[in-house]
Amino acid sequence: MTNLNEQITDAFIACVTKASELWISVRNYKFTLDICEFPAKHAQAAGLANRMDMTIKINIAHARANIDHIVNDTIPHEVAHLVQQILRPNAKQAHGPEWRAICVALGGNGKRCYAEEDFPGMKIGVKRRSRHTYNVAGEVMELGPKHHNAIQRGTLRIISRKTKMVITKDMYVSSRIQ
Ligand SMILES: [Zn+2]
Repeated sequence: MTNLNEQITDAFIACVTKASELWISVRNYKFTLDICEFPAKHAQAAGLANRMDMTIKINIAHARANIDHIVNDTIPHEVAHLVQQILRPNAKQAHGPEWRAICVALGGNGKRCYAEEDFPGMKIGVKRRSRHTYNVAGEVMELGPKHHNAIQRGTLRIISRKTKMVITKDMYVSSRIQ
């Protein structure tokens, strides 16, 4: 465990040092590293960047699964978010061309997301969603789980745009997992 923390900290320091060598204005900022277990809401994220307090958080659960990916890709990815905030505070996209260029310059892969196989053995990756088919007067519609459950409970009124009919629970046909 200590070893993982050390590896993450070393990689973070090396990455921030590289950033301050590449872009002088980065030297005016203090970046903070927080290694922790992410709450359920963010459990799928390997790292997070907070541009308000210039902190990056690294998910120790992901580090246990693949420390190399954290060191080589997640840290440059998150540090690039902070550097973009300094160099291009008005950039429109979080993962746009400005961010990608910074990430790659820091040695990262410039990818927005990681692949499921990057962290073997972890139950992460794409959330599987159920889709529910309704037949509204001949028009086949697919609804997500929230709307489907509410219609089945009778707590939601949705009007089909095409047929102008209220979708009722008896119009339900079948479900599938996406
Ligand atoms: Zn990102």
